[in-house]
Amino acid sequence: MKEQEITLSEILSAREERVALQNALLEQSRVPVISFTMNMAGPVKLTALSHRAFAWGIEQLRLGFSQNKFSVLAEQSRSLPTGDEAYFAVDAPAERVKALCVEIEESGPMGRFFDMDVIGADGRKLERATERACIVCHRPGRDCASRRLHTVAELQAATSAELARGLQELARRRVAALATQALLGEVAVTPKPGLVDRSNNGAHRDMDYFTFLSSASSLHSYWEQCFDRGREDTTPSAENGFRSPGESFSALRPIGRQAEREMLAATGGINTHKGAIFTLGVLCGALGRCWRAETGFQPVDIILEEASAMTREILAAELPAADWNTAGEDLYRKYGTRGIRGEVANGLPAVRDVSLPLFRRLLARGLDRNHAAAVTLLHLIAELEDTNLLHRGGPDGAAWAKHAATELIADGSIPSLASISELDRQFTQRNLSPGGCADLLAVTLFLEALS
Ligand SMILES: [Zn+2]
Repeated sequence: MKEQEITLSEILSAREERVALQNALLEQSRVPVISFTMNMAGPVKLTALSHRAFAWGIEQLRLGFSQNKFSVLAEQSRSLPTGDEAYFAVDAPAERVKALCVEIEESGPMGRFFDMDVIGADGRKLERATERACIVCHRPGRDCASRRLHTVAELQAATSAELARGLQELARRRVAALATQALLGEVAVTPKPGLVDRSNNGAHRDMDYFTFLSSASSLHSYWEQCFDRGREDTTPSAENGFRSPGESFSALRPIGRQAEREMLAATGGINTHKGAIFTLGVLCGALGRCWRAETGFQPVDIILEEASAMTREILAAELPAADWNTAGEDLYRKYGTRGIRGEVANGLPAVRDVSLPLFRRLLARGLDRNHAAAVTLLHLIAELEDTNLLHRGGPDGAAWAKHAATELIADGSIPSLASISELDRQFTQRNLSPGGCADLLAVTLFLEALS
């Protein structure tokens, strides 16, 4: 977005136009009108940040209308070099409309830049009960503005910082909500061969559906921490300065180990989401590293590439020399299987090229989420070297599992839930559980929801 300096006369004529637009809407609808603009100090009135914050404000207004059962009789919006503008003619008492606008103006760091004026059906503007605080020094009242206590540069810097802070807060919350939703979604998918689902515990004796709900809930704030870590590591002004992708991954690891302890506390010592803590944690960090306040989230390909850049060298250096203290490392020594860590280091090709496009295709064909996800899991089992399968069933068991999954999806057919249930029975009988594939199903659900 090109940022453009506006002259005083342009500001004045834009204001006149806005009043004319408001009056026309009032005339036409005869109900209160909201006039929403951004309060931007200085000669630049439209920036990438102000535009994104404005879009959030519009969304909040629409949600508020539906929450309060206000009906909108007419609306109009436009994006001009003099700033974004939106108008809503709302069929509701002016005081209630004003109360909603003040609530939104006072919600979070972005709200303070919202000017949501309400003009009653009689043409009179409603006033706020409380004065707004200065954006630089946070003192209440209009003192700073009328006495010009801050320079334009100070006002602009404070505006950008606050808008970026508000947008980052939304992004962080969204990442955590979608990651939690993905873990809950993964365990809810039924049937799943050998895995815990809503109908049985598969090949597991020490955990059930509710263990997974506890575990997923305990990890909620971990995803926020990973996102913030990645974000700060690419912000030069941050305390620790800029970190390379590999340094960022190293900084995430103690956070991941803390999350594992929280998981163990929530499940009574059962390891439900260790793989997800690693994989989704790296992805949330990569999302943070690639996120920009001006543009938001990057496309999936870029995120996966970043996850690979973060982990590639460190994992390649570690795996052959590791002190073999996990099942995955033991299997690497025995069979050369790099498991989930190898997948992440390669930028999750099984998700990028197989499960994510397939899951989207199945949804587009009208399959419900549960069925689409269950079929997607079969493709992951057919595609991946799952160290959990190797660990429980040895090379023979793992090969059998792959073969059985491949048969069900041969020729691109979509197996019924009943035939997947039958496979579930056979996996369980053979004590096979494709936990690594389940983690990548969660990653698939997460990335699908994000984009
Ligand atoms: Zn001030």
